[in-house]
Amino acid sequence: MATMTEKETIKTLTTHYIDGAFVESHGREVMDIINPTNGQLIARVTLADEEDARRAIAAAKRAFASFGRTTKEERAKILRRLHEVVSAHIDDLTAAMVEEYGGTIAFSRLLMEGASNVFLSAEKALQELPLTRSWGKTTVTLEPVGVAGLITPWNANSFFLSAKLASAVAAGCTTVIKPSELSPLQTRVWSECLQEAELPNGLCNVVAGRGDVVGAELVRSPDVAKISFTGSVAVGQTIMRDGAATMKRVTLELGGKSPNVLLDDADLDQAIPTALAIAFMNSGQACVAGTRLLVPRTRLDEVKRAILDAIRAFPAGDPADPKTAVGPMVSQKQYERVQSYIRKGIEEGAEVLVGGEGHPKGLEAGYFVKPTVFVNVKNEMTIAREEIFGPVLCIITYENDEDAIRIANDTTYGLHAYVSGTNVQRARRVASRLLAGRVAINGMLDDQQAPFGGFKYSGVGREFGTFGIEAFLEPRAILES
Ligand code: NAD
Repeated sequence: MATMTEKETIKTLTTHYIDGAFVESHGREVMDIINPTNGQLIARVTLADEEDARRAIAAAKRAFASFGRTTKEERAKILRRLHEVVSAHIDDLTAAMVEEYGGTIAFSRLLMEGASNVFLSAEKALQELPLTRSWGKTTVTLEPVGVAGLITPWNANSFFLSAKLASAVAAGCTTVIKPSELSPLQTRVWSECLQEAELPNGLCNVVAGRGDVVGAELVRSPDVAKISFTGSVAVGQTIMRDGAATMKRVTLELGGKSPNVLLDDADLDQAIPTALAIAFMNSGQACVAGTRLLVPRTRLDEVKRAILDAIRAFPAGDPADPKTAVGPMVSQKQYERVQSYIRKGIEEGAEVLVGGEGHPKGLEAGYFVKPTVFVNVKNEMTIAREEIFGPVLCIITYENDEDAIRIANDTTYGLHAYVSGTNVQRARRVASRLLAGRVAINGMLDDQQAPFGGFKYSGVGREFGTFGIEAFLEPRAILES
């Protein structure tokens, strides 16, 4: 039961942002939000239902009639305004991400800076993207596809909301946004940014409800032309299947089991701390985490020693403490999921080099797991095949470059890959053979103009830059006699 002091700090959220205003929820289900760092109740949130979703879709449809015909400059102005308002609230967005999700403060801030910059990146991409092309008596224009439904997961909610919105607005689409139901505090701050931006009514509508209720309504609606989704493979498949009934355009950003190929000339002083940072980023709850470290057999002992040394810089702890590298898992369910994979790894014969089952010492109150590194992992083991979504790194040995490439590509996923080595030409040659939407050489790198998305089960389509805007556009050719 909540004490008096707790009661005073528990937030109550009962509205959704529809047609330019915060309106009371039609949905009546109330969800408790728990702080993953200490297990305490922090918010009670009234979830949206199908009717809230339908109101939002209707508002977006009305707004599309004029927004769909805006010029590049009009859209660019809105993107700059969105950048301004999100930039002004980076501290609030960061605090909400730390509190409700347990994101480490350093990572959360970086991500929120990314969330503000992505609007300017989309503006730049829009300026570079020709929306009209013509030859002879043929003219092709790239037209906004219509109302877009944007659906995000809990691990980087406000960042994904911003990235999807930026591309949709650049393309001239109006939007109905379905954030993760586990991210209501971030969603509230972010929606207030939209209100502060004084956008045209109905351009952005935010309805936070369950995926199988609000998300499913967006997928089902004939008035929604496109779904841009980030989340699990299982839900991505449902969206693709159910969306077929209304011929939905879909962009699906799904899971990963990314390989990190350590070439035999790699500088371990640099490559091992980077490999741990890539594996444990966002507390391991990252689709792009490099969770399979491929190591030349001849250097395994050295790598083990380097990991035991470098792991000291990756402590689990209070996410609000700037020294913390790994925060809690988002929920009890996620904690148990990660524990079950660690158990499975041990049962299947992998050896725990560091970490293992249970809470780290002194962190029993929240959903903390031990940053864990397994050695003696075979690429066939469950922990090497399935996405764990926690701070668990698998070390797999290989014999030569061809063998490394084979193991790296022997996965159903293909979202990201990493290569490290001192001979850059050789690293490039290996990178060019990896089946992944992005490959980073010698680092944890990002470029908001580069396409992002997956091969194979990691998804369909690309986000960011001109590729991301094109995903919200439909070509129309006009042919004259
Ligand atoms: P999830 O698939 O359970 O949920 C994602 C979103 O989809 C949530 O908003 C949820 O409410 C909604 N949803 C659920 N059922 C739905 C339905 N039937 N119709 C429409 N929407 C529905 O994923 P999650 O647990 O929130 O996030 C973790 C997963 O996200 C991991 O698998 C991770 O790899 C993936 N992810 C991918 C990327 C990427 O860019 N490729 C980035 C981050 C996370």
